[in-house]
Amino acid sequence: MAAYEYETHDYDVVVVGAGGAGLRATLGMAEQGLRTACVTKVFPTRSHTVAAQGGIAASLSNMGPDHWQWHMYDTVKGSDWLGDTDAMEYLAREAPKAVYELEHYGVPFSRTEEGKIYQRPFGGHTTEFGEGPPVQRTCAAADRTGHAILHTLYGQSLKNNAEFYIEYFAIDLIMSDDGACTGVVCWKLDDGTMHVFNAKMVVLATGGYGRAYFSATSAHTCTGDGGGMVARAGLPLQDMEFVQFHPTGIYGSGCLITEGARGEGGYLTNSEGERFMERYAPNYKDLAPRDYVSRSMTMEIREGRGVGPNGDHIHLNLSHLPAEALNLRLPGISESAKIFAGVDVTKEPIPVLPTVHYNMGGIPTNYWGEVLNPQKDDPHAVVPGLMAVGEAGCASVHGANRLGSNSLIDLVVFGRAAAIRAGKVVDPETAVPDTNTAQVDKAFDRFDTLRHADGDTPTADLRLEMQKTMQEDAAVFRTSKTLADGVNKMQAIAAKVGDLKVTDRSLIWNSDLMETLELTNLMPNALATIAGAEARKESRGAHAHEDFTTRDDENWRVHTIARVADATIDLSYRPIIEDPLTSETDGGISIKKIAPKERTF
Ligand SMILES: Cc1cc2nc3c(=O)[nH]c(=O)nc-3n(C[C@H](O)[C@H](O)[C@H](O)COP(=O)(O)OP(=O)(O)OC[C@H]3O[C@@H](n4cnc5c(N)ncnc54)[C@H](O)[C@@H]3O)c2cc1C
Repeated sequence: MAAYEYETHDYDVVVVGAGGAGLRATLGMAEQGLRTACVTKVFPTRSHTVAAQGGIAASLSNMGPDHWQWHMYDTVKGSDWLGDTDAMEYLAREAPKAVYELEHYGVPFSRTEEGKIYQRPFGGHTTEFGEGPPVQRTCAAADRTGHAILHTLYGQSLKNNAEFYIEYFAIDLIMSDDGACTGVVCWKLDDGTMHVFNAKMVVLATGGYGRAYFSATSAHTCTGDGGGMVARAGLPLQDMEFVQFHPTGIYGSGCLITEGARGEGGYLTNSEGERFMERYAPNYKDLAPRDYVSRSMTMEIREGRGVGPNGDHIHLNLSHLPAEALNLRLPGISESAKIFAGVDVTKEPIPVLPTVHYNMGGIPTNYWGEVLNPQKDDPHAVVPGLMAVGEAGCASVHGANRLGSNSLIDLVVFGRAAAIRAGKVVDPETAVPDTNTAQVDKAFDRFDTLRHADGDTPTADLRLEMQKTMQEDAAVFRTSKTLADGVNKMQAIAAKVGDLKVTDRSLIWNSDLMETLELTNLMPNALATIAGAEARKESRGAHAHEDFTTRDDENWRVHTIARVADATIDLSYRPIIEDPLTSETDGGISIKKIAPKERTF
């Protein structure tokens, strides 16, 4: 058995993650006087939330009439009727409150002439229950909304005496013998010391797992660590097959090129120089919906018309546009193309690839952020002592597809909800649970095995194999065959974890070891994604299945529950929650209004 000395820390609450969700939860806990620690592997303001530009949705009605019921309807429809209705009501209803709180905490929102919070239009956000014109619902701090939110919440958390453990890597959860979560084991990256946090409540706010794919807009740190820890604790992941792709990420880096590039007249070409979108979408061409363009690009690549030495991407052309227009309208894009693709957009096309942008699935929770471990007789059974919020969690408000600007609001609404709930269930007077040392030993054994891994497969090689497989076989475009092949390939890849080779044995700033731990977290997320997709015989939201092209509400309006252990995946299903929190007579939404229908735009 591996012996590591460790320091013990006792708290009421430990939040793992300091993105928008983790910081909002931390602040809410600390404000109520709970002794709160926030553990994070990167500096708080470097969390991926910092990259969010567009904004945060809430029906403030600052730019014209809006109602939370309209926001709720759009979210239900956007989810392609797979979200949990109670959670979607909670999101839309609480959104204005959560945004005003951000304003009062000091987020420097852009302003209207009258000094109100400025709001911009965003895809899928409408009026009159989808019957009226688009609405301006997305609150923004210029194009730095995520940046502004993170800095404000970090400052406020410090002010309220939350304690931060920065560059601490959470390795595994500590579970009690009767199935409650009682803490987390961490490795301090800069000095190699080990730390055990005991807590009455652990909140996972570890973000998405975009890096399971070859091309992702998310940061390299988005490795689904929360999902990995949960899977190892024998708990399930939910709806992982729903992965949102953006058509134009820069090939290789995945850095996002906004849809505005095509809005300004840019177009896509294949290896024959053909503007192929004219064939797929004669009317909207390059401005067809995101999932449609992404699927068309993938078809071209699969049929051998991709560009580049490996024929594995597509060109986005802007060079026909006047240089002044590029300068004026797309200066940021021109700069990103230069830095990340070495391309001068006035002369050459940008190499692009449909790029993973968001994970709708995650750790299942109720709308208070409490983690669920669905059982046959109780589909909503709660795991005591464990919560999950933000992109790591699945409440589920985005169902099969997320609307733009609905993630930032998800972070703050459910970060706040988790704090409200913890205020009720965590008693500051009771003792902090003792350390279950058997669990700590188990975590150290796993850590030590990876640290001394001496097989034949370098971590970077296995990671690339996983990423390429996911990109090819669990992509925008799915068939029974690609998915079945993909499941087999991914199981073979997961089995190779036992053959990993780690070259650096030290404990201080050992990025080789950290990336290996991250790979072991990405793996269960990837397995659950591809197995869930293979099993789901319908098309819904982001899951577009060539062999089952329509939505099948009768059989598939259910959440996928995936339990992953090593290379095996066990799937079961849980009914979605159809009932809203309030009825029409209580000022809520009529259940008829949100009944499933065809999703057209
Ligand atoms: C480029 C880009 C633009 C976007 N734009 C928008 C937008 O305009 N509007 C919108 O609504 N959404 C947008 N999204 C989506 C949205 O930004 C994300 O879903 C959201 O920021 C995720 O926040 P989070 O708090 O869940 O996690 P993150 O912000 O990803 O934070 C994760 C945290 O967990 C910590 N962590 C992870 N693993 C460990 C571990 N093992 N140990 C310790 N700490 C750990 C990290 O240190 C980090 O602090 C965008 C996403 C991207 C990638």
